[in-house]
Amino acid sequence: MLKFYNTLTGHVDEFVSQIPEKASVYTCGPTVYDYPHIGNWAAYIYWDILIRILEANNYKVARVMNITDVGHLTSDADSGEDKLEKGAKREGKSAWDVAKFYSEYFLQGMKKLNLIEPQYITKATEYIPQQLDLIRKLKAKGYTYQTSDGIYYDTSKFIQYADFAHLDLSAQKSGARVETNPEKRNPSDFALWKFSPDDEKRDMEWETPIDLLESNDNGEIMGFPGWHLECSAMAMSILGETIDIHTGGIDAIPVHHTNEIAQSEAITGVRFSDYWLHNNFLKVDGTKMSKSLGNLYKIEDLEERGFSPADFRMLILQGNYRNEGNFTFENLQAAKNRLNNWLNFAALRHQIHNNSPNKDKAVSFYATSQAIKEAVDDDLGTPAALRIIDEAFSKLSTAVLIDIDRPSLVQLLETIDLLLGFELINNSPDIADETKQIILERNQARAQKNWKKSDELRNQLANEKIVIRDTANDSIWEYDF
Ligand code: AMP
Ligand code: ZN
Repeated sequence: MLKFYNTLTGHVDEFVSQIPEKASVYTCGPTVYDYPHIGNWAAYIYWDILIRILEANNYKVARVMNITDVGHLTSDADSGEDKLEKGAKREGKSAWDVAKFYSEYFLQGMKKLNLIEPQYITKATEYIPQQLDLIRKLKAKGYTYQTSDGIYYDTSKFIQYADFAHLDLSAQKSGARVETNPEKRNPSDFALWKFSPDDEKRDMEWETPIDLLESNDNGEIMGFPGWHLECSAMAMSILGETIDIHTGGIDAIPVHHTNEIAQSEAITGVRFSDYWLHNNFLKVDGTKMSKSLGNLYKIEDLEERGFSPADFRMLILQGNYRNEGNFTFENLQAAKNRLNNWLNFAALRHQIHNNSPNKDKAVSFYATSQAIKEAVDDDLGTPAALRIIDEAFSKLSTAVLIDIDRPSLVQLLETIDLLLGFELINNSPDIADETKQIILERNQARAQKNWKKSDELRNQLANEKIVIRDTANDSIWEYDF
């Protein structure tokens, strides 16, 4: 049974989609003003497992991931600079060029990390009319008001506003003296549309439709959308009024997702998303990542030190998405070793030539494939899935090759690749016939107790990055990573 911890209900719920065998998923995507760090990527790895397990349960997935290329301000309180405009100043480019560069970088990174591509990747700047339309609907229903710097959502009009994140709004009110915008009616109110500042020409701005403005405004006012609005607009435009699953980081619960719900449900009167999944944060050496600590690693920083994106995937899946993760280079090395071991077990399939072994002794993995799926079905239980795989492979390390049921091993590898995205099969190629010949000659030399020749041949194999593990019954080749 597929189940997830649902932030909306506060428990682990069985997943039931609105339409049988179809699942609509919305993932809050990157703000493309800088390179993503490994903490950002951790989140996308978790959601990659979500998509994989939905598909393994025969759901046809329709997934939208947005690209935030406008409107995400440096402060959640609708103050501060737009991150894109800030990135543009930093790099001496236009905000459009910055967005293009980091969007492309992000999409290439997704490929590098073997993340399943969403069916819809949508840019906030390409959904401006839809966002304006939502403001129009909210205005018609009396949820908006205008201040000198934008059009705001009046959260006091949406009585369920505090429910999703269990907010204490009265505490927010009493703390309102730190509020930066005195024109806001309630501290939790948020901008749907911001007006471009008078003293600055923004790269990205659009004319504010006159019907959205208060009647006494009749000049041209340029503006740009609020960050929260884009997710509601893109999710509902493509996936409909109610989506099955919405994902994001836990930091999005009290503001961003609360506001998405307020906007969307005020308009439609129906639930915006049935399931809300939130990932916890990845720390580095037990501390929060930050620019000042210099621990905002990019994937390329790991690659420069000899680690692959798959090693990083392994490190991330060793933890549960709901728990804080800890990145250290020691942990990454341990994850790499684990993955390399798995690749050597995957390579055994090239060395088992008997497809119908002695049934009494057969080492078979059909039950393992099922157990892995059940672990992931249980709220993306990747740590348990990894333990099951280790246990299965430990059986292999002591098995006699002829006793191993090859089709079940292949099925196990396929299951791991499908559910966890490790590409074990593609990354464990067979060795060349000439190399196999060297192994045969070495075995003959050993049988003849010709140790000198057997050592020479072993060295030849080492040059080809192949080592031999001699067991009582077999000489098994392995990659020398
Ligand atoms: P962005 O909008 O691109 O700045 O993405 C920020 C999102 O990445 C946040 O909302 C978080 O959910 C997520 N995020 C940031 N830092 C981390 C981290 N250390 N671990 C996991 N997720 C993170
Ligand atoms: Zn969002």
